Amino acid sequence: DLGAEQTGRVVSHFGVQVDVEAYPYDAENAQITRCHKRSNLGDIVTGDLVVWREGQDDLGVIVAVQERQNQLSRPGFRGEMKLIAANIDQMMVVIAPEPEPHQGLVDRYFIAAEYWGIEPILVINKADLFNDSPYKERLEHLNQLYTDLGYKVITASSKSEHGLDLLHSSLKDKTSVFVGQSGVGKSSLINTLLPGSDIQTGELSEASRKGKHTTTTARLYHFPTGGDLIDSPGIRELSLTNLDKDTILAGFKELHPFLGNCKFRNCNHQAEPQCAIRDAFETGAISEERYNSLWRIIDSLEE
Ligand code: GDP
Ligand code: ZN
Repeated sequence: DLGAEQTGRVVSHFGVQVDVEAYPYDAENAQITRCHKRSNLGDIVTGDLVVWREGQDDLGVIVAVQERQNQLSRPGFRGEMKLIAANIDQMMVVIAPEPEPHQGLVDRYFIAAEYWGIEPILVINKADLFNDSPYKERLEHLNQLYTDLGYKVITASSKSEHGLDLLHSSLKDKTSVFVGQSGVGKSSLINTLLPGSDIQTGELSEASRKGKHTTTTARLYHFPTGGDLIDSPGIRELSLTNLDKDTILAGFKELHPFLGNCKFRNCNHQAEPQCAIRDAFETGAISEERYNSLWRIIDSLEE
């Protein structure tokens, strides 16, 4: 005796069971139902949109999963790709005056975002430290560089509350993840953006330090000002691995008009005369620093 079919979104997953919330989300009427899934459905992860109905013993049953807009995965046991989360709109790539910011790292996250089909946004955090930072000029330069490329760049600080309005409005109506080096202030920022929630995001990283990390799966949270966050220690530490040269090239969006134009089969795009990528560099369509970064990333993967 099953209830009517309902649309829901998975807010956390553990093995064969998932927690599902009504979708679209309604803060006034938010209820989470633990569901099991029919075995023919394959992996279901946080962020998935599903059809479910009430079952027995207060447990729901997932009867269908909607096709994913995109999905995040990472290499797991024996290099098998492990699904982490689905249907993500934005990747907030966080850098700060400390630890030292590196353009190469930002480019790697942006390559990954492009690969996954997620819009990257650069968050330059700890704005209260800018003026006294030895990296002030570098950060200003990075701000200009990515803004000129057409990306959104937000300067922010959970300490001084700088940029929080812009962050709130950018997160609204989207599902976002936060990534970046340890220490850039992701937990602090997330805690500021999720005030009064009983979710202590700090606890997650605490748990990861104690080695629970691999068993801590992603969870979906709602910002009180609108928009959703999908977060886990694994997502925060996402890194770019096992990507080939074409994926890296595709991650540099200023190269998009040139990528299909290279006339040489098996072109290395490096020394070949009349190579379209080389042309992009020589005509200034890609800046020297981005071009150098591109090759540093490709070289580092070939080592
Ligand atoms: P995470 O590892 O990226 O999650 O970074 P945390 O949120 O744990 O922060 C790392 C350190 O930076 C902590 O000592 C924080 O107190 C500090 N921090 C975080 N945000 C800010 C900020 O906006 N300004 C300053 N000055 N320090 C911050
Ligand atoms: Zn070429």
